[in-house]
Amino acid sequence: WPQPAALPSLAGLRVDLEAAVADGIPPDRRRELDEALARPAAQQPDWPDRAALRAATGVLRAAPALTSPAETRRLRRELAEVARGRAFLLQGGDCAETFAGGTEQHLGGTVNLLARMAGVLSGAGLPVVKLARMAGQYAKPRSKPTDVLGLPAYRGDIVNGVDPTPAARRPDPHRLVRAHGHASSTMNFLRMLQEREDPAGKRLFTSHEALLLDYERAQLRVDPDEDLYATSGHFLWIGERTRQPDGAHLAFAALLANPIGVKIGPRTTPEEVVEYASRLNPGRVPGKLALISRMGCEAVRDALPPLVERVEAAGHPVVWVCDPMHGNTHESASGYKTRDVQDVVREVRGFFDVHRGLGTHPGGVHLELTGSEVTECVDGATGDADLAGRYETACDPRLNRRQSLDLATAVAAMLHR
Ligand code: PEP
Ligand code: MN
Repeated sequence: WPQPAALPSLAGLRVDLEAAVADGIPPDRRRELDEALARPAAQQPDWPDRAALRAATGVLRAAPALTSPAETRRLRRELAEVARGRAFLLQGGDCAETFAGGTEQHLGGTVNLLARMAGVLSGAGLPVVKLARMAGQYAKPRSKPTDVLGLPAYRGDIVNGVDPTPAARRPDPHRLVRAHGHASSTMNFLRMLQEREDPAGKRLFTSHEALLLDYERAQLRVDPDEDLYATSGHFLWIGERTRQPDGAHLAFAALLANPIGVKIGPRTTPEEVVEYASRLNPGRVPGKLALISRMGCEAVRDALPPLVERVEAAGHPVVWVCDPMHGNTHESASGYKTRDVQDVVREVRGFFDVHRGLGTHPGGVHLELTGSEVTECVDGATGDADLAGRYETACDPRLNRRQSLDLATAVAAMLHR
């Protein structure tokens, strides 16, 4: 690893910009990055203070990496087993991580739940790859730039505050540094579990949506082969709102050596998915690309087959993942954004049936969940009237511990054959 000549202070934002660009990225890779990032980028905050933004990204450029290329390559190899039909992916965590949620209790609850679910799923006979939505899932895309009060929308703790005041909603670049600090503390906790050989922490990889390009760009590093790695997490995905083929997110992701996910929805075309595959995985490396379908339980059986068929016909190896959450969100009678666990199960069942029918591998599930007994999703035991009890999410409704374990049992039954 190339060492910066002088490490700037990480405590404040007074950064030696000369040292801060010493991230070892060679000039030709830098030019490719500049070109990618010059394209239109959806969902970026309008940072009011550009000098503070430069200082913040300078801190991140010079900071130690959160993940290593060797770990990321290991995940890629494990995902290759998923692509080949010999393993199953369990990806899950909060919709939006918050700074306040960076507690041992909250993080430990999620890690423990993922481990329990992996145990249930492995009963179906395939090894389970565990991938947390954790240590970087702080940024949220929004469908509208303003909220019901007319204030700038909350875009996640990495951008602004959730409080409904103009001051809190002002994008603050210092939050990029705070997010990195929380991610670092979370990584430390995960590594400690690994060190202790706690079964819950064993080989748990991290992931988040690669939404905020300033945050991601500043944490790029090169390995000795001059391959470019995002070190903010092991696996990054591109969301439904930022997957424009001519946009910055896709061009940026195409330069990375990390395994990459792309969310695909009911309006995604077969041409688009083939373009994602050829641009994000031109070398056709198994485990490099995951397509995460989030169709909705009504649409999945019709919308997914043409996409799978086209990718298969083109011969691209893909990890097929089902996100049964984002196509099944609705507003409850009491006004809460919720999901019905029955719809979630129906979408996963549709996903399995589609892949079984086409002879492809239903490779994994991507879930929003938490280890505590929140009341955010409805099911037989939790009705609309119960949502007010413990509705704690900073963004989308998550499966609670019981709902997650029940879902894992249902998915294990679908996987077993
Ligand atoms: C998410 O995963 O929280 C998300 C916003 O998903 P999507 O991009 O699929 O809507
Ligand atoms: Mn979400």
